[in-house]
Amino acid sequence: MIVGPDFDKLARILVSEREDGCLDRKVVGGFDRFLAAWLREARAAAGPALQRGTVDLVASSLQGYGAKTIEERISSVEETLESLQTVRQGQKDEAEGAKPVAPAPARPRKAQPSPLDPKAPVGALKGVGSVQARRLERLGVRAVEDLLYLFPRRYDDFGQLRTISQLNYGEEVTIIGVIQEALNQKTRSGLQLTRVTIADGTARVEAVWFNQPYLLRQMQRGRRIALSGRVDQYLGRLTLQAPQWEPFKAEQVHTGRLVPIYPLTEGLSARRVRTLVKSAVESAAPHVVDPLPGSLLESHGLLDLPTALQQIHFPDDEDSLARARYRLAFSELLLVQLGVLRQRLAWQQRPGRPMTVRGASLEAFLQTLPFALTPAQRRVLGEITDDLQRSRPMSRLLQGDVGSGKTVVALAAMLVTVWNGMQAVIMAPTEILAEQHHRTVTELLRGIAERAPEREDAVTGLSGAGPIRVGLLTGRLAQAEKEEQHRQIATGQAGIVVGTHALIQEGVHFHDLGLAVVDEQHRFGVAQRAALRQKGHNPHVLVMSATPIPRTLALTLYGDLDLSTIDELPPDRQEIITKWLSRLERERAYVFVRGQVEQGRQTFIICPLIEESEKIEAKAAVSEYKRLRDQVFPDLRLALLHGRMSSADKEGVMKAFQRGEHDILVSTPVVEVGIDVPNATVMLVEGADRFGLAQLHQFRGRVGRGEHQSYCLLLAESPSFEAEKRLQVIEKSQDGFVLAEEDLRIRGPGEFFGTRQSGLPDLKLAGLGDVQVLERARQVAVEIFEEDSALSQPEHRLLADRVREFWGSQTDLS
Ligand code: ADP
Ligand code: MG
Repeated sequence: MIVGPDFDKLARILVSEREDGCLDRKVVGGFDRFLAAWLREARAAAGPALQRGTVDLVASSLQGYGAKTIEERISSVEETLESLQTVRQGQKDEAEGAKPVAPAPARPRKAQPSPLDPKAPVGALKGVGSVQARRLERLGVRAVEDLLYLFPRRYDDFGQLRTISQLNYGEEVTIIGVIQEALNQKTRSGLQLTRVTIADGTARVEAVWFNQPYLLRQMQRGRRIALSGRVDQYLGRLTLQAPQWEPFKAEQVHTGRLVPIYPLTEGLSARRVRTLVKSAVESAAPHVVDPLPGSLLESHGLLDLPTALQQIHFPDDEDSLARARYRLAFSELLLVQLGVLRQRLAWQQRPGRPMTVRGASLEAFLQTLPFALTPAQRRVLGEITDDLQRSRPMSRLLQGDVGSGKTVVALAAMLVTVWNGMQAVIMAPTEILAEQHHRTVTELLRGIAERAPEREDAVTGLSGAGPIRVGLLTGRLAQAEKEEQHRQIATGQAGIVVGTHALIQEGVHFHDLGLAVVDEQHRFGVAQRAALRQKGHNPHVLVMSATPIPRTLALTLYGDLDLSTIDELPPDRQEIITKWLSRLERERAYVFVRGQVEQGRQTFIICPLIEESEKIEAKAAVSEYKRLRDQVFPDLRLALLHGRMSSADKEGVMKAFQRGEHDILVSTPVVEVGIDVPNATVMLVEGADRFGLAQLHQFRGRVGRGEHQSYCLLLAESPSFEAEKRLQVIEKSQDGFVLAEEDLRIRGPGEFFGTRQSGLPDLKLAGLGDVQVLERARQVAVEIFEEDSALSQPEHRLLADRVREFWGSQTDLS
């Protein structure tokens, strides 16, 4: 059955009208009357965007038919018949494909191109040679299946089909028209323009592409094409600039719907990626096996996997897109949950090493500190020492805002460990941070060595008498020094060891590791944490995070860990004055920065987040840096930091900035500026609307670390409504937890974490939807787990495979 407008009926009338020479004699009462009735019915019946758009097109070319000249009538009839041809073909295809019962609201699949095993290499797809396969590999795509999971970053809504006469400046639209004229032109600045005039019977419009002269060959006169893009203005006329386009056919891939936008890589155009995904979806998605049992799909109203994969890429409409997302996010989170639950079980079954905690020694140490612990620090330290005394190993997440004083708490736990004759280690994500910790720890222990009353007792290190030796192991050490550190770690001479990833390398053997601390845990993968744990026999583990995670989320994503939270800052912390500025105020911001520099202070400038690729981001940062250096601050000392620099170069720049050799540090957001520069007082964030609250808060935490009043300036070009809300929230609040909750509420957990820094198994789906998905996934996982914790029942077998794949070798975090 064909649903939707009766295009056939209209076509029959038009054909007979055309045969009659367009004299408007074929319909009793005149064609206009027929048209009005037809349009009324058609509008009521029209479904997908393409149908609605075609009806609009019919209306605009045929309305006022009676009043047109014969020539105008002929051309509008021709025109309409041609568009009808295409849309009817599309409907017929769908009707034929629709025969099998399709329970989901998904588009019935069309006659399949040759079926393909999802596990086949991408090379199996038509037109993919070895060069392209290599490029795809950079996107992480090896098998056809990987293309299915290369989810769009976003969608452009081009569903709005318009006639050219209806175009308005600034709107995202799709138009269909015939090429009237096309030419290449070089501007004086050397830009290659391809200018193409398109007409659709209502008006003409020009589309312009830049530096793609080869396009001209495809722009033959008389060709009917569909274009999607934003309506722009040039010299007072409306134009489409570099729109998406394709030859007009019934089912449009690149234009005329919710068009998926994929991550880009060099040598692969957006168009090409989309075409490849399309062909993967058509040939392989139907053959993907769904790991979720059918009963679960049914009871939770979830789309089956093939349909969800098809709809996430080429959604019929917003609603199916939402359902596809929900389904994919749900199963992803379910896998996380099952892995987490398994983990927790494994940990709880393992025997640990109970320690003795002597309150008097601990107090003595605390007395030597230059400050008193906050009540929150005390509470959390209590939770940790309770754990240390138990006979199952601690697995605890310690979270607290930047500057809340996590290090000293960890240090106290490390001391307890050493007093129990075991070693403690703390792993930091960068050399700078490791060195900073080494200095802090050494400094804080000096107090105990000099002043502690029970000195003889408390200060006993592993080697017997004498102060505790604090080792430092980073990748930078010279060979001889590294070997010496390895030796001290192996013999137990080093009681406390501070280091980077270098700690988890092959040659590192601890004498007896009792406590492993991981700082800034979001910067490490699960596997790295596990590797550190393996350096001892079921050591106690404490992971620390400065990204406050709302409780719901923490329970869900780190459900394997117990949670401790430092929820207050030490008194005397200054408030960082935060201002959201419009783009018109950029000059003012620069003047302010200059003023601070003149007072001897330093500034961070963060460049906007660019999601396409790190390379593009680095490039943008380089040009922003040059602009600032040459045009804005030619007399100041600027430095640049971005993710494509070697880590040695990055560290070099950071240290020079720390030493005050630069006034301004221009940096991309990927580069964690996780160090103390007490003299820096301004954090200027460009493109602040693109960042989440948690991330903005992290940036802000880079200043205000010294005695000087500090400022955070947020520049936003044209923030969306949501972004404005975020900016208002951060202007008002300094509380990391409030911001985290808000961020989670506004953006959802996927965005909140951002794959770049999650340290979780890669969650592919950017917009994981709301917290409800998380909670539901957790609840279902618990149900499954209670019933079948080994996932050995037949209906869970596929699920078990997927959990293993998803968590990879990480599952057995022994
Ligand atoms: P973070 O939680 O971000 O890792 P740190 O542990 O680096 O924070 O502590 C930040 C600074 O605050 C350090 O200089 C530390 O010595 C200091 N500090 C920690 N606890 C207190 C406290 N209770 N009172 C005052 N200063 C403190
Ligand atoms: Mg810290």
